[in-house]
Amino acid sequence: MYNILSEKPEEFINHEEILDTLAFAEKNKHNLEMINKIIEKAKLRKGLTHREALILLDCDIEEKNQEIYALAEQIKKDFYGNRIVMFAPLYLSNYCVNGCTYCPYHMKNKHIARKKLTQEEIRKEVIALQDMGHKRLALETGEDPVNSPIEYVLESIKTIYSIKHKNGAIRRVNVNIAATTVENYRKLKEAGIGTYILFQETYHKESYLQLHPTGPKHDYDYHTTAMDRAMQGGIDDVGIGVLFGLDKYRYELAGLLMHAEHLEAVFGVGPHTISVPRLRHADDIDADSFDNGIDDDTFAKIVACIRIAVPYTGMIISTRESQVCRERVLHLGVSQISGGSKTSVGGYAEPEPEDNKSEQFDVSDTRTLDEVVKWLMDLGYIPSFCTACYREGRTGDRFMSLCKSGQIQNCCQPNALMTLKEYLMDYASEATKKIGEYVIQEEINQIPNEKVRQIVIENLKAIEQENRRDFRF
Ligand code: SAM
Repeated sequence: MYNILSEKPEEFINHEEILDTLAFAEKNKHNLEMINKIIEKAKLRKGLTHREALILLDCDIEEKNQEIYALAEQIKKDFYGNRIVMFAPLYLSNYCVNGCTYCPYHMKNKHIARKKLTQEEIRKEVIALQDMGHKRLALETGEDPVNSPIEYVLESIKTIYSIKHKNGAIRRVNVNIAATTVENYRKLKEAGIGTYILFQETYHKESYLQLHPTGPKHDYDYHTTAMDRAMQGGIDDVGIGVLFGLDKYRYELAGLLMHAEHLEAVFGVGPHTISVPRLRHADDIDADSFDNGIDDDTFAKIVACIRIAVPYTGMIISTRESQVCRERVLHLGVSQISGGSKTSVGGYAEPEPEDNKSEQFDVSDTRTLDEVVKWLMDLGYIPSFCTACYREGRTGDRFMSLCKSGQIQNCCQPNALMTLKEYLMDYASEATKKIGEYVIQEEINQIPNEKVRQIVIENLKAIEQENRRDFRF
């Protein structure tokens, strides 16, 4: 039986409820009256239920779909303005004891190079990332209690936060590691992580068991309740996602939204972010051999429906996607993107030799961070290197209530401009700097509060003339 408050995954991600939802959505995909009602509700910007979102996903009335896209774009603008938060992944280790059939790190893959960074190697990687201009990282590891136990991850986080190279600093470390215990989540929280990220991969239990035939990750229930344990361990910013391409996208979107609803109902705070990765080719993995790949149009529709269904949740897209695809979904709801990413263990400081590759998957967008930053500004966005919220204690429900009241806008826009200024001073090419300075001048005038605007102007001056850094609201 479906029970949003249950501790049991089969009850809060209930298979029958998903099947009913899908049948209901299929039946009502031309139901103009119902679709209109849902769109009207969505305009209130308080989100939609998984059932309502699935009807919009299935809706095949062209005119209504255009309304859905326009609304997603408007909601995105209302909550996130034109800011896009930047980050990069940092792979610490690709040793893995799991058997995931879509991931080249699976244990039986004998020809991928296995690597684990030492603390000294992490220093080099972090300096290279700082020299690109990054301030926010997502740590990635394979699951291996011997090669990357929690102590290794904790030590690495400490190392990363301690590195101060020139004006560089990593100010927020998000962590994407395998499902673990409440105790370990507490340790991650104490280590000062930002978001704990874990993709469900697929919400379809039967498929999940087949796609994860061996290793600890085979335990669907343990994996599916990871966010509950993370919250119990005090982590109130969690990031969820599915790997699109593994199972049917309609089922996945219903599961994903039910997961968000469950977290909100039980802990009073939904996911901080939702990621929308799509399966990619990789060493040992032929993405075409999976039957459930989705095209770019379907992908765009999914992003728009997520934006409308959970307006306060950040949405992340990685360099798995091409420039063209990223541009399309930026309009529809994505608020965070990576740039200049490497999916290998090591590789920022020095490129990996051809015969010793450790990459997790092929990236599609191979541009440098500077190129991505400039491109965003050319498109009218403000690339933001802001990490202020969690450092100011604005996490979990405090973040959400600020976001819901619109107050967050008073911090985000100024913080985006000040961190962009830092980037321009320390890392940007001449062309990026030129457009960046123009963007900042234009945007200062958009800050409605006179007092805030004056402080921002002072701080921008201090960044440029006194070489001061890390101002934030
Ligand atoms: N090992 C961790 C775990 O157990 O969840 C997560 C870290 S893994 C490095 C990050 C994510 O990469 C996975 O959750 C998966 O969704 C994604 N991934 C794995 N293989 C992929 C592929 N071939 N294409 C795209 N993404 C992939």
